[in-house]
Amino acid sequence: MGFSTTAIHAGNEPDASTGSVSVPIYQTSTYAQDGLGKHKGYEYARTQNPTRSALEKNISALEGAKFGFAFASGMSATDATLKLVKAGDHVILGNNTYGGTFRLFDRILTNYGIEFDLVDTTDVHNVEQAFRENTKMVFVETPTNPVMSLTDLEAVSSLAHTQGAIVVCDNTFMSPYLQRPLELGVDVVVHSTTKYLNGHSDSVGGFVALNDERHAEWIGFVQNSVGAILSPFDSFMVLRGTKTLAVRMDRHNENGQAVANFLVEHPKVEKVYYPGLVSHPQHELAKRQQKGFGGMVSFETGSLENAKSVLESVKVFTLAESLGGVESLISHPATMTHAAVPYETRQELGITDGLVRVSVGIEDIEDLISDLDQALD
Ligand SMILES: *Cc1c(COP(=O)(O)O)cnc(C)c1O
Repeated sequence: MGFSTTAIHAGNEPDASTGSVSVPIYQTSTYAQDGLGKHKGYEYARTQNPTRSALEKNISALEGAKFGFAFASGMSATDATLKLVKAGDHVILGNNTYGGTFRLFDRILTNYGIEFDLVDTTDVHNVEQAFRENTKMVFVETPTNPVMSLTDLEAVSSLAHTQGAIVVCDNTFMSPYLQRPLELGVDVVVHSTTKYLNGHSDSVGGFVALNDERHAEWIGFVQNSVGAILSPFDSFMVLRGTKTLAVRMDRHNENGQAVANFLVEHPKVEKVYYPGLVSHPQHELAKRQQKGFGGMVSFETGSLENAKSVLESVKVFTLAESLGGVESLISHPATMTHAAVPYETRQELGITDGLVRVSVGIEDIEDLISDLDQALD
């Protein structure tokens, strides 16, 4: 079956008791049992909920995964995934992952004996050199936020497997429509469903998808033991969101490319970061590894004053953190999403004070371009 058919039908069977075509929100904490030890597969709603199960089937199918688990946020999905490593283990972490992921390692996991090194994973040789005897996991995000650098998932996965380590990919920026990491050898995919999967900026959630049965059993055990589950309502919202994922992503791709092309030609823009530009240093890898280039574009305005004036002059774009919704958002990484990253590191990564990031939505492209045009003027 094709992607859109799967998106609309996987997990979305008509409700067995009423025939309801859309999966109901099973807003319950517990389930009546017919007798001692006799129940319909549902005992307590932290452990199982039919709305959540439907979503778990749905996103697993989209990622081509045998198993999937829905969490209360992208961060709780990442946290559960990191329970695949133990005290004394070492993790190679991409040096430009989501700030919250870095914070989880830096401020919390280190207290539990998990070691990590930040590595520029855009070059697989750096990854190779970072391996230690106790390295058990490589955790990457591709493309990264906000400078859109890519990691070669196939190369990193085959390298990690020769070293006995697993590879985790945060696939939030691409969604399974544009990138399917498990098919490239990655072991575990994590998502913030808050972004493209839900797609409407009205729910916070996370997901873990994987094929290995032993690892899946452990993630399921963690999900039930810790209890950071996605609520029935949010499960319903994301299930509704994924039905239109393919059409939304096609439009995000189109609009993202058009915005990047416009910015490249603009005299007040010094540099544009978008994998769909031939000038992007990893454009060839992007073409090979992704089915499209997505809706995230960053650009250099040269100074904080210039960035500030663009951010405060836009009318269609909304100044806000987050991404992946139908509406276009604009943000300033240095003071917003990446404020916690030390100044020196920010400069090394290209996150200057003049850098502006846009999450290009699915509005009419003429309106988005004329909005950016008047804001840059
Ligand atoms: C937003 C985001 C997260 C965290 O997800 P939450 O749903 O906010 O907890 C993780 N990774 C990436 C790439 C993100 O954009």
